[in-house]
This record gives sequence, structure tokens and C-alpha cells, in this order.
Amino acid sequence: MNASKSPRRSWVAPHIAALPRSGIRDFFELVSQMDEVISLGIGEPDFTTPWNIREAAIYGLTRGVTHYTSNLGDLRLRQSICRYFRERFGGEYDPARECIVTVGVSEGLDIALRAVLAPGDAVLYHEPCYVSYAPTVRMAHGLPIPVVTRADHDFVVQVEDLEKAWTPACKVLLLNYPNNPTGAGMTWEDKCAVAEFAVRRDLLVLSDEIYDELSYIPRSPSIATCPGMRERTIVFNGFSKAFAMTGFRIGYAVGPHDLVEAMMKVHQYSMLCAPSPCQYACIEALDNGAAEREEMHQEYEQRRNVIVRRLNDMGLPCFQPRGAFYAFPDIRSSGMTSSDFATRLLKEQHVAVIPGTAFGECGEGFVRCSYATALDEIEEAMRRIRVFLKR
Ligand code: PMP
Repeated sequence: MNASKSPRRSWVAPHIAALPRSGIRDFFELVSQMDEVISLGIGEPDFTTPWNIREAAIYGLTRGVTHYTSNLGDLRLRQSICRYFRERFGGEYDPARECIVTVGVSEGLDIALRAVLAPGDAVLYHEPCYVSYAPTVRMAHGLPIPVVTRADHDFVVQVEDLEKAWTPACKVLLLNYPNNPTGAGMTWEDKCAVAEFAVRRDLLVLSDEIYDELSYIPRSPSIATCPGMRERTIVFNGFSKAFAMTGFRIGYAVGPHDLVEAMMKVHQYSMLCAPSPCQYACIEALDNGAAEREEMHQEYEQRRNVIVRRLNDMGLPCFQPRGAFYAFPDIRSSGMTSSDFATRLLKEQHVAVIPGTAFGECGEGFVRCSYATALDEIEEAMRRIRVFLKR
């Protein structure tokens, strides 16, 4: 009857079809087919969420905290977030107008990009970086522009490189320090230099500070507090890493009212609100979670010291991470590509690390080793890598 139309080649939108699959996912499919693997692959705390926080979630459920909250999130949680943010990261935000609770930092970044980008707007971001950034920009119909960071600058993005990459289409600068996958961190001077660039080029800064609690250098205030930055910065943070709450899926963003309001529109029509029992538990995390958070932080720092020493001792130069829970050793002396190194290490010694190229082309020559793994496992993985290199 209706044979006039030619058959559709695919229902999938071209910009989604063009997205690459995450290199991490592919690698883990391989890992899942093997036994006795020590995984330094996962970017997720190995600790179970502290008991008082889990108990608060249960208590919330028994009290009937099972309804939608305000679109912006439970006001008591937003009040706790703004207090905590002021004390820990610096910067004053109004819980009623300048703070939104999201489904992880993942959703926060997604709705911010969707709220500010018009088709063709460009986003500067530094690589190697978290695997989601470029795809999230593409899904918001933006153009991602990567800026390479290097080991000889401790993987801190350099203003001259930002300048070279800048075009008049750039609207946003996306930052992530402490960094996944390099462990790099920014000093106050680094932040002010980048802030000065953002002001000069009139860019909105989206600052993903999810690892800021896991800093091993003296923490400096958020880039949002540098001169001229408050009105052009949205800061993202969350509970996944610092409080070992990945499965709760709660994050938040603080920023100027007009931007939070625009994000809220996207959130309201797509997510409605973040899960209410999880929000309830987050109030407990912020109000009474400091001691356990600090214990986990100290444990990560101890593991970092061990893994970095071992990698350097076996001839894999490794920058001393300033934050997060990743080491990013240079494996070029092995003569292998990152992908060959990771694949052969997995097959021959059953140790999983992630090829640096999963985080951008400039990650070639490096692998990411997560130390969100128990110390004895890290020691055993290091022993196996040493054997692997000798062969
Ligand atoms: N940003 C970075 C840099 C990350 O490494 C991750 C998780 N690996 C996220 C955001 C996502 O965090 P969330 O669980 O809050 O969505």
C-alpha cells in the first residue's frame, strides 16, 4: 500500500550513532570473562557507605520519605549543602535559589550543558579526562574542543594551550580538578590563572569538583571564588566519591540563580527530582559524616603513597597524584601501546588497568590504575606487574 517511502537506514539520530562506546566498558567485558582478576580498573570507592548514612536512608523510608521532593531538591538538604560548601570549599550560595540537587554529578553536567548550549556552541575541556565529557557535550548539540595536558606540567591545563584552542564559538570551559584519570590538582595560583583567561574570553566555567574532598595537597577554595568568577561559574559536587555513595546517585550544583533556574527547567521536565530517600541520607552524610569521610581519605592517601612508590621503583614513571584515587603511570618504557599493555597484563597476569587512550588520544603511553582497592590487593597487583615487565 504505502511502498512510496524508501526504507529508513536507522532510527538512531546521527549525533548519537556517531558517539563512540566507552573504552572502559569494552575493557570490562573482557575482565568479566576471566577469573581471579585484581582490578585496578574501577573508578568507584571499595568502601561500603558508612552505616549511619545507610541507617538514615532506612529511617527515612520507615517515616514515609517516599514522595517527590521540590524540583530543586529537599530544602533541608540544600541548606546542609550550602553550609558544607561554604565551610569546605569557600563561597556563599543561597539554598533557596542557587543550589540544585541532581542525580549524581553526571546529571548535573548534562542539564547544565543542555541549559546553556545552543547548536554549534563550543566547549573547551582538558584531556585526558573523564570519559563522559565529550559525549555529554555532543548530546547537548555542542562542539567539544579538547586541550591536551601533559605530565611535565603535572597535568594542569595551561593558559597558553587554552588560548591556542579557543575560537569565537567557545562558550563554556569545563574543568575537573582533582582530575580523573591523572590525579592532577590545581593550586590557588593555577585556578586564578585559568579564571583570568575565562573572564578575558567571557566563558562560563563548569567546574566538576567531585574529588575535591580527596585532595592530598592543602585544599584551596573553589575557582568560583577567584575574582570575577562567581557570576560565570557553576560548581558540581556530589556524594559518590567522598562518602562512598555511588549507588545513591546524588550530586548537586551551586551557581548564579539564573543558571540554576535554567538547569531546573531541564531537570524538572526530564528527572522531576532526585530520589527522596537518598536525599534524606545525604543530610546525614553532610551533618554527621566527617569522621568516616576523613578515615577513607587517609586510607586512600596511604594507598597512593604505596602504589606511586612501587610503580616508580619498577621503572614506570608516575606523577604523584594530588587528589582523587587514580595513579597514571607512563608505560612507554615497556615498548607497548597503552591498549597492548592493558590487554596483555590482563591476559598474562590477571591485573586490570585502563588504557590511557580511554580518556582521550593524548592518554597514549599511560594507563590508569585506580587505588580504590584494598592495600593487600594493590601490593599483589604491583608484584604481578613487576613480573609482567620482566618477561
Ligand atoms: N565526574 C568525574 C570526574 C567522575 O570521575 C565521575 C565518576 N566516575 C563523575 C563525574 C560522575 O559522578 P556521579 O556518581 O556523581 O554521577
